Amino acid sequence: MRSLLRKNIANLKPYSCARNDFTGQAEVYLDANENWRDFVGNTGRNRYPDPVCSLLRRALDEVMGLPFEHTVVGNGSDELIDNLFRCFCNPGQDSVLLMPPTYGAYRVFADINDVQVKTVPLDAEFALDFPALEQFLQEEKAERTETSRCKLLFICSPNNPSGNAFPLSQIERVCKLFDGITVVDEAYFDFSPFESAVSLLDKYPNLVVLRTLSKCWALANARIGIGVASKEICAVLNSMKYPYNVGGPSQDLALQALMHREDVQAGLQGISEERKRMGQELGLVACIERVFASHANFYLVRVSDALKLYHYLAQLGIIVRNRSKELHCENCLRITIGSREENDKLLSALHSYKD
Ligand code: PMP
Repeated sequence: MRSLLRKNIANLKPYSCARNDFTGQAEVYLDANENWRDFVGNTGRNRYPDPVCSLLRRALDEVMGLPFEHTVVGNGSDELIDNLFRCFCNPGQDSVLLMPPTYGAYRVFADINDVQVKTVPLDAEFALDFPALEQFLQEEKAERTETSRCKLLFICSPNNPSGNAFPLSQIERVCKLFDGITVVDEAYFDFSPFESAVSLLDKYPNLVVLRTLSKCWALANARIGIGVASKEICAVLNSMKYPYNVGGPSQDLALQALMHREDVQAGLQGISEERKRMGQELGLVACIERVFASHANFYLVRVSDALKLYHYLAQLGIIVRNRSKELHCENCLRITIGSREENDKLLSALHSYKD
């Protein structure tokens, strides 16, 4: 892993914040230039938060089985994705591999960090294309130089926007093939029947698994992303992040959500049932040509004219996502599974639509 790091990150002397220097309990804190007053009613908001989210990570270990020593918390998983680029990819030199159609932010972060994007597209049924991947990786190995190579490979499972997850055996096959850092984005993992790639971490030290509390845990507003990786990768990610990257109110909200595990489990069951119902119902709508299989909390559907249907729904106050410009997604809309009432509103609007 160290040989994959950017030199400046490998040699970084991290900023040491006050809350890192002293971690015990004291009576008087005069170390962080905070205001001694708390204007919002003894909430402790005048103090800096725990920079490494220790309480939250203990809860993630207990509730989600993510080992404490192997986690880092980000300001959403988006922050962790950006930080992975900044750790491993030399701007203007290195590249990353994406498998489109996939989560659009990977490319945006690559562009922001001046990292070249290479692609091995999924096939038209959104399956991983192993022959093309093997060929790409062989060629990449032959072409790489001292200063430039493919550092990161992103697999999104379940994949956004297609909705399908990849079986663990396929994820493992990718880990075996790629000698850089394989990032498995499991933002929608809770909705999927497949096993998590976290179980592969012991075997593949260059694997990073991303989770988020934004989806199943219903905390998109709090911005809590979780990276699960080797202790070494976690240490590097911690060394280069903003000192206090996750706000105290967000850490507290995440802890509260994790204490409501049963409610979240029941909510997940409800979403699964609605997903099943919507899969059948959307299949009966005249203007929908195809409903792609989903292991996530949304469906990708193909229609005859996605833009027209998008505007029709928007004018009725129903917003879906037009994904038509993505590879293999011509005339496709991505529709989140909402509440039963919201889903019924959508269905009734779709049935009234005249193509
Ligand atoms: N990964 C995927 C696949 C996503 O779809 C999203 C958000 N839609 C994210 C990561 C970002 O999640 P977060 O809210 O944790 O930043």
